[in-house]
Amino acid sequence: MSSPQNMVDKFREECGVFGIFGHPEAANLTYFGLYALQHRGQESAGIATSTGERIRLSKAMGQVNDAFDHDKLTALPGHLAIGHVRYSTAGESRIENAQPFVVDSKHGQLAVCHNGNLVNANELRDTLVSSGAIFQSSSDTEVIVHLFARSQAENAEGAFVEAIQQGRGAFSFVAMTKDRLIGVRDPHGFRPLALGRLSHPGGEAWVMCSETCAMDLIGATYERDVEPGEVVIVTAHGVRSIKPFASAKASQCIFEHVYFSRPDSFVFGESVNEIRTEFGRRLARESGVDADVVVPIPDSGVCAAIGYSEAAGIPLRMGLIRNHYVGRTFIQPQQMIRHFAVKVKLNPVRSILEGKRVVLVDDSIVRGTTSRKIVRMVRSAGAKEVHMRISCPPTISPCFYGVDTPRTSELIAATHTLDEIRKYLDADSVAYLSLDGLTGAVPDGKTRYCTSCYTGKYPVAFPQDRDAYLQQALKFNAEPVSATSIIPLSVLETDPVVG
Ligand code: SF4
Repeated sequence: MSSPQNMVDKFREECGVFGIFGHPEAANLTYFGLYALQHRGQESAGIATSTGERIRLSKAMGQVNDAFDHDKLTALPGHLAIGHVRYSTAGESRIENAQPFVVDSKHGQLAVCHNGNLVNANELRDTLVSSGAIFQSSSDTEVIVHLFARSQAENAEGAFVEAIQQGRGAFSFVAMTKDRLIGVRDPHGFRPLALGRLSHPGGEAWVMCSETCAMDLIGATYERDVEPGEVVIVTAHGVRSIKPFASAKASQCIFEHVYFSRPDSFVFGESVNEIRTEFGRRLARESGVDADVVVPIPDSGVCAAIGYSEAAGIPLRMGLIRNHYVGRTFIQPQQMIRHFAVKVKLNPVRSILEGKRVVLVDDSIVRGTTSRKIVRMVRSAGAKEVHMRISCPPTISPCFYGVDTPRTSELIAATHTLDEIRKYLDADSVAYLSLDGLTGAVPDGKTRYCTSCYTGKYPVAFPQDRDAYLQQALKFNAEPVSATSIIPLSVLETDPVVG
């Protein structure tokens, strides 16, 4: 069986978090909030709620509509809830790692949902294990739960704040005690977290979530982002903000604008659609080519293709149609149809492509395996020329801040020249948006954003001994790419499956 995760050659989204305080249907609204955030994680889903007396939890593997039904939601009463959709970036895909994590301790109950990756999780975990802690999961988030339980702070809120102060790296948390909702962004602000309000007949609720598309679905209004380094606490007495971290250079993940977030969201206070479209305009100005038609690779390339078409004055046509009903798994015939996985998902429109010089636009290339199949598909539909345009710079380095990425040796741009990539993709030309083009399209793009996967320069150091996968990346960062580190094109012929 194949899964769609193996069908696309993309960085994988991290997780989506949602929290609400002050609504009698908190569980139902969290369910819908998670539904809107489903693109951020499809492996597991969970919701914890509180009536003010006790936290209840329900979580399961699978997508939101598999994990919950009417009976499960009815068993989650309360005006306060948090929820999580997960794709595993640290820790395996199993129910023990599904979130929220809920613990009972001397400080009372705590439920936690995490989007991001603690770069010092192993270090903290080793210290906790050597002092007797027993871990139930392989998730870095459980470290925070143990630190909370051991804190000598006077109350649950203080213990949670003390715990998160020990984390380093990328974290946006929504957490809850039995009577309060807490939202946190790490001091660099790697991952997004938005704050909004929802008026209802019984009063007003506060909402926190990864992307504003979740607020749109439940009728909430976006107020502002939780700021980098800020902790927002919502109780029956109102909303408070504290800043318990030393200030740090802002490093918001620019890949949220390139690919992860939905275009109908505001992320880091900006419209994803507007920024993604501007990437396309800039790409056209930097790397224009004579062509008859601009074709997006759906859905990820659509916004940039619109911008490209607009700036280049070349008509945009939907020359590739995506099947939106591809299931999570399907039976793959052994040798029956070459490139079956991509064909299940995309089909070319011959009437648009035949005899045309085509500009194919996508948001990113990771290994290049899927892009190559798509270029060949477009050629086989009769295209005269195929020019690949990518609306971000070459991806040369893995992410350590909550995004699942292949190792450096599998990133085609880390190991091949532009012309080698062009030959591998079987394209007439290939061009990427420049780093200046990328950062110039985003307000404060040069000063407030992380661009490490394009530069190999990391704003938060990570330990030297995490595992072989990270060693690989460390080696790459320490040394320029050498001839021996270039993998032969034949190795990239098949889709490597990277966990
Ligand atoms: S390395 Fe790339 S994916 Fe990771 S946080 Fe930075 S910009 Fe985002």
